[in-house]
Amino acid sequence: MIANYGYKDGSGEYFISIDTDKCIACAADRACLTGCPLAMFETLVDDYDDEVVQIKAQFRRSLPYDCVGCKPAGGYTSLPCMSACTPGAIKHSW
Ligand code: SF4
Ligand code: SF4
Repeated sequence: MIANYGYKDGSGEYFISIDTDKCIACAADRACLTGCPLAMFETLVDDYDDEVVQIKAQFRRSLPYDCVGCKPAGGYTSLPCMSACTPGAIKHSW
């Protein structure tokens, strides 16, 4: 399942999507949990009793502000969360 977290407004669409099928048997040892400097990812057990990850609720309405330090303007050429997630489950819409 692709789970989307974020929102859109007049300035654009700000979503992080997570392909939770890849999280069930994560080949990266849940590297997203420690790879994000703001620790925005957390584990949960979904409706199918599988352990997956999600974006913590307190970040979902402020993603463009919280993530700004990781974007090219912050000196990064690739996002730490996406680099950590070698299975490629994480995508950003902006
Ligand atoms: S590292 Fe990627 S595949 Fe693994 S739990 Fe995190 S988001 Fe899912
Ligand atoms: S861009 Fe940075 S702050 Fe945003 S989720 Fe990824 S690692 Fe965390």
